[in-house]
Amino acid sequence: MTTKDGLGAESDTFLAAEITAAERVELKPKPMPSLGAGEVLIKVRASAICGSDLHLYRGKHPDAPLPSAVGHEIAGDVVKLGPDVNQVRLGDRVVVEPVIPCGTCHYCRLGQYNRCLNVSYGYRSGQSGLAEYYVASERWLHHLPAELSYAEGALIEPLAVAVHAVRRADVRLGDQVAIFGAGPIGLLTLAVCKAIGAAQVYMVDIRQDRLAVAAALGATEVVDSRLEDPVEYIRQATGGLGVTHSFEAVGAQGTLVSALKALRKGGMATLIGIFENPQVGLEAPIFVQREIGLLGSSGYCWDFPTAIGLVRRRAVNLAPLITHRLPLSEVDRAFAAAVDREKLAVKVILEP
Ligand SMILES: [Zn+2]
Ligand SMILES: [Zn+2]
Repeated sequence: MTTKDGLGAESDTFLAAEITAAERVELKPKPMPSLGAGEVLIKVRASAICGSDLHLYRGKHPDAPLPSAVGHEIAGDVVKLGPDVNQVRLGDRVVVEPVIPCGTCHYCRLGQYNRCLNVSYGYRSGQSGLAEYYVASERWLHHLPAELSYAEGALIEPLAVAVHAVRRADVRLGDQVAIFGAGPIGLLTLAVCKAIGAAQVYMVDIRQDRLAVAAALGATEVVDSRLEDPVEYIRQATGGLGVTHSFEAVGAQGTLVSALKALRKGGMATLIGIFENPQVGLEAPIFVQREIGLLGSSGYCWDFPTAIGLVRRRAVNLAPLITHRLPLSEVDRAFAAAVDREKLAVKVILEP
């Protein structure tokens, strides 16, 4: 099958990024796919590198061996329709929700598709989001409003992760929040907490550049944990009590313990970081003595429309997160920038 690329030329292949070995990413030609029922072909206009892509790049993703396809934060234009497509039209601007649930397990039947027993993602089936084209089922596409750029569209997926975590945590108007880890998900969690009316949001990290982004997104105070004890700082800032909610967005024992200790009695910590080292030690009695809780949040479930709405009405400003924009042809430089602390990257966007 051939297709038109926006210039009218016919081509049988397109380029897609692949992690071929640890710290090695290459663009490989892929055959232009044929479309099944309900599927559409998307010309990718912007895709973002995710923290989980960096785990892949380092060869340390807990459940994805190399070589592997990479990238799942995608915005683009619908350029070809398969049979039986009803919800989208040629030329529509869309965001991809890149989850592939089975649709038939216990959780899928309840509509809790992020808990699917057989869940998959495009990169596991060999399809890269860091590519010229992407095939998606129309039921997992969301319309990208005209007010949003494609780059903003590519960040809807991580924003949906933050929306889901804040919903799970049940943060409410007037609550006090501490976030450990000012990576993209921690920063987006901050933005969502501010948007829904959290009274104070404290951001803790060891990188000044990321704390500066947190301040730009409206953090009440930023805490450099190399310079001060963040738990002590947060306790003092909250009249000795601690916060109602904390989020662990690093994936490390030290920040998990701090996220629990920063809570006031009855508080709730939510875990969103990916742990490369899964074993952590916790003092079990603090859960009883302080009546605190620890919750996990995974992916998203009906959160994309909320995420799009937050950006559309400018309740969340994504601009401070977009630190790098590179053409897809420089995907190797893009990954190098994303992992190099000197480059001060938060989100790296690839464009045609
Ligand atoms: Zn992601
Ligand atoms: Zn399922």
